[in-house]
Amino acid sequence: VFNAIVAEDVDGKTVASLKQITDAQLPDLPVLVEVAYSTINYKDGLALAGAAPICRKLPLICGIDLAGTVLESADPAFSAGDKILVNGYGLSEVHNGGYSQRQRLNPDWIVRVPESMSLSDTMALGTAGYTSMLCVQGLQDQGVTPEDGPILVTGAAGGVGSVAVSLLAGLGYEVHASTGRVEAQGHFLRGLGASALVPRQDLARDSKPLEKELWAGVVDTVGDKVLATAIAQTCYEGVVTACGLAGGAGLSSSVMPFILRGVTLRGIDSVMASQARRQRAWDALAETMNREHLASLSATVPMSGLLELAPSILAGEVAGRLIVDVNA
Ligand code: NAP
Repeated sequence: VFNAIVAEDVDGKTVASLKQITDAQLPDLPVLVEVAYSTINYKDGLALAGAAPICRKLPLICGIDLAGTVLESADPAFSAGDKILVNGYGLSEVHNGGYSQRQRLNPDWIVRVPESMSLSDTMALGTAGYTSMLCVQGLQDQGVTPEDGPILVTGAAGGVGSVAVSLLAGLGYEVHASTGRVEAQGHFLRGLGASALVPRQDLARDSKPLEKELWAGVVDTVGDKVLATAIAQTCYEGVVTACGLAGGAGLSSSVMPFILRGVTLRGIDSVMASQARRQRAWDALAETMNREHLASLSATVPMSGLLELAPSILAGEVAGRLIVDVNA
């Protein structure tokens, strides 16, 4: 027997709890993994608290990320001892996830851990960090360079935002970090390389169709009014990457930034991104991520304490990234 956090249907409600399960309860998939670490992302908070229908099949093991070591593989692409990770691909949505000491996986979901990274480094980054890199590469692929001007990162003290601040600053961009917690998190964000702080209220308001051009690029994790204002403030031919909805799923904008300034709105999805896109992002993270920043923005929590922690991530009280030790 081993430990797992399982979401179940209890009188029509989705309830997650820590359980002891056996290999017989794992899916019939070719790669058996000893899981070392998982993470807690905003979406995991929603799943654990039953606050949104994240788990679309019940019962289901929660946890959208995992990192571990292959124990046995019926697929020749992997062998015992391989260090691997999975982000998304329906884990904790339609497939069993990472909050489990063992898991069986489809080889198509698996990314090899880059050599210079430890299993715990990969989960310090997790889906949040990998999504940050997808956003950074979204800007780079559209030709945004450090010479073009400042990059705005919204929800900057959160998981995706804080990694994005560090990555962009490390690549030589001037980063302006928008946060609702200027007092509490300003020092942390400057330490990651932010050169200016933008209070959330400056953006979370009704905006004009076109405002003063400020940003060569944007990494938005918040959505709604914050995203609309960021689009209205993006410079001529600037690029806005939209990956999150921490402030709401709405978007009321106008076509003006697109037809008068040639602004690009680039959607970012980590969950179903191709294997090639994933490996490219992870290889770039291995090369770019400042390990001191990674240590400063991450902390390890035991899987046994996750259910109590879920409400704080939903309340936006967690800063940076949490690594989940599934063996504690
Ligand atoms: P997180 O650690 O909880 O960070 C979210 C941050 O958003 C908070 O730290 C806070 O930043 C800000 N925020 C929270 N509530 C807000 C509100 N009501 N209005 C405005 N800002 C608010 O979450 P995360 O893991 O970084 O994820 C961020 C978002 O990206 C989530 O919506 C998540 O679902 C999404 N996401 C999407 C993908 C994808 O594939 N597209 C992948 C990963 C995550 P400040 O304290 O700095 O203001």
